[in-house]
Amino acid sequence: RHYSSEPSLQATEENGFKGHSMLAPFTAGWQSTDVHPLVIERSEGSYVYDSNGKKYIDALAGLWCTALGGNEPRLVKAATEQLNKLPFYHSFWNRTTKPSLDLANDILSMFTAREMGKVFFTNSGSEANDSQVKLVWYYNNALGRPDKKKFIARSKSYHGSTLIAASLSGLPALHQKFDLPAPFVLHTDCPHYWRFRLPDETEEEFSTRLANNLENLVLKEGPETIAAFIAEPVMGAGGVILPPKTYFEKIQAVLKKYDILLIADEVITAFGRLGTMFGCDMYNIKPDLVSIAKALSSAYMPIGAILVSPEITDVIYSQSNKLETLKIYKERNIVEHVNKIAPRFQEGIKAFSGSPIVGEIRGLGLILGTEFVDNKSPNDPFPAEWGVGSIFGAECEKRGMLIRVAGDSIMLSPPLIMTPNEVEEIISKFGDALKATE
Ligand code: PLP
Repeated sequence: RHYSSEPSLQATEENGFKGHSMLAPFTAGWQSTDVHPLVIERSEGSYVYDSNGKKYIDALAGLWCTALGGNEPRLVKAATEQLNKLPFYHSFWNRTTKPSLDLANDILSMFTAREMGKVFFTNSGSEANDSQVKLVWYYNNALGRPDKKKFIARSKSYHGSTLIAASLSGLPALHQKFDLPAPFVLHTDCPHYWRFRLPDETEEEFSTRLANNLENLVLKEGPETIAAFIAEPVMGAGGVILPPKTYFEKIQAVLKKYDILLIADEVITAFGRLGTMFGCDMYNIKPDLVSIAKALSSAYMPIGAILVSPEITDVIYSQSNKLETLKIYKERNIVEHVNKIAPRFQEGIKAFSGSPIVGEIRGLGLILGTEFVDNKSPNDPFPAEWGVGSIFGAECEKRGMLIRVAGDSIMLSPPLIMTPNEVEEIISKFGDALKATE
């Protein structure tokens, strides 16, 4: 049966309605603005008003999101001030804005179900869940587990409208005709006790069965291929489905056993909807990653975020080559090592200063330059066409040593990890190449 309520606007060009120009996610046919336009014009607290002035109590808070209702003056003021001051700046590399940093700190301090390390901002809940997949893949690649990439979500879950978020979702309408879900996404049971329990099964027994089913799926696929499990603390779009008793306790035990990350999709449940600040508080969920959006700004701005556990941020940070390099320098006391081998390196090469073609050998630590000139004089370069520097470079190469040549100036800058034997090898090859060049 179609909607029986009156459209708030006639869908005609004459009255200015341009509904035909819009496509909405998962919406087609009789449901769309083409035939049933309900045009909302303004809001006031818990109420919204359509284009005919009809008043509605907004019993879905927009789409689970306007937690503080319409026209909250403090939000309007804060947004206006910020828009006037700085409407946009990005957070890439080392750049960001103070509100972003402050918001990240506030989110971390409000999430108390377990310690979280960092916040990654997105524009929506869908984008947060898509980004979860990237983060988890990056994490497993960093740990040298390239096969641990599959995600398990639940039947009837909703995780968003984008390609991956829709794949994670467990609603057939989101998959059909979109070639979804993506092949790395698997689905397990919906924890809806009332609908799916067996005769005489208690809630606890139902939860045990679902946890066993999850474990069987993990074993069938191979635990080394399963990266993460994603779950809404309370399923929203699937019909507001509360987890049965002991469900999350049992599910978390399975995940822990097979080293599978837990992602809590708190896009609807975060910031008080369940009567606790987060759904994780309500059900004693200790997630590795959390998605939030919607009530994060009461939907006054499109913003979402991921909370990332310190264990994951540690791995991500260890992947930064620069940081890892610096770590190694410290661990290996590299400066001390350089100071140990450098004197022999400098003295050994500088011993060739007497060569008739050498003007100067100069250097410090493990860096060294040599100048080839005639008559040992800076004023008597060899004719360029002789290519003395290049000949020396070629003689080094012949002997299995690579150096840098720039005209008749040559340079050495060997790895700082060189052993004393390798220092001797350089000295000896340098000497031989020099003899051959003279
Ligand atoms: N995750 C859950 C649990 C949601 O309910 C929703 C939206 O309803 C999303 C993700 C997607 O968020 P968004 O609409 O901000 O993309």
